[in-house]
Amino acid sequence: MKRVLITGAAGFLGSHLCDYFLAKGYHVIAMDNLITGDLKNIEHLMPEEHFEFYHHDVSKYVHVPGELDYILHFASPASPIDYLKIPIQTLKVGSLGIHNCLGLARQKGARVLIASTSEVYGDPMVHPQTESYWGNVNPVGPRGVYDEAKRFQEAITMAYHTFHGVETRIARIFNTYGPRMRLNDGRVLPAFIGQALRGEDLTVFGDGSQTRSFCYVADLVEGLYRLLMSDYAEPVNIGNPDEITIAEFAEEIIKLTNTTQKVVYRDLPVDDPKQRQPDITRAREILGWEPKVSRAEGLKITYEYFKSLTSEELYKSEHKSFDKYNKA
Ligand code: UDP
Repeated sequence: MKRVLITGAAGFLGSHLCDYFLAKGYHVIAMDNLITGDLKNIEHLMPEEHFEFYHHDVSKYVHVPGELDYILHFASPASPIDYLKIPIQTLKVGSLGIHNCLGLARQKGARVLIASTSEVYGDPMVHPQTESYWGNVNPVGPRGVYDEAKRFQEAITMAYHTFHGVETRIARIFNTYGPRMRLNDGRVLPAFIGQALRGEDLTVFGDGSQTRSFCYVADLVEGLYRLLMSDYAEPVNIGNPDEITIAEFAEEIIKLTNTTQKVVYRDLPVDDPKQRQPDITRAREILGWEPKVSRAEGLKITYEYFKSLTSEELYKSEHKSFDKYNKA
């Protein structure tokens, strides 16, 4: 039985990866420090014989007994609100955290896949974004802690590959959505659906002309698995090229939720990328992968999930208290 370590396992993507690998017959070792992750996302897996949970911060020394075949590094805050609240942890998990994973991989002879991001392209000057584009990132802006950590993460991963011969895979993940997104992390989809469910107006930042391209989580996980199983060590964009403006997206959510609320406009956050769309030619050619779930289908499933939350969860607009964690 193959053994896989998944960091950030109680988060949105991590928890879907746990489900996927267990269903495929792997032994899953799930790790999370629960700063932004939530045990609720993986509690259904706790009784599984081949599921273990380590409550541990991957930025600290990582010890995993036994053999390991694969390491998936998915621990990281992943929304602009989180980076602002916990900037130091964001930098540490993308640097010290991956360093620990790569050291562990070397010791165990494991293959590593890292969750990189379209944020490495910053506010892109090339559209759609191909993997050969180097990006337009402001290192000292509010997103810098995330963007630069992820860029460093790619650099150290490539260095372990070329210098130590560790088998590595780099996924550049574009905006992804689905059940288990955190309602209050500030991301646009949970923000809009949460507002619709609470009977609030939908807050579009800027004039809403900025674009994003949203990938349903099941498609993303399949792409990640194919990348892990490939022999390709260069970065690969994984995302859905179906691009939409945020203003149009708000209208879609209004229709989906049947809300009578309207759109209100707020200031555009600093360094908010104006357009984002993955060029997935590489994923198509090398992995034989492309997304299958339309936004209409994916949004319906996601809306059902948010509707199933309790009103306490729906109205809990405050973040968990990060104060006790937010020490460098
Ligand atoms: N956004 C918005 N209203 C919100 C939250 C976000 O208009 O309540 C915008 C945000 O400014 C950005 C887009 O939606 O242009 C996507 O934001 P998100 O934080 O989900 O992801 P990212 O900017 O990292 O792609």
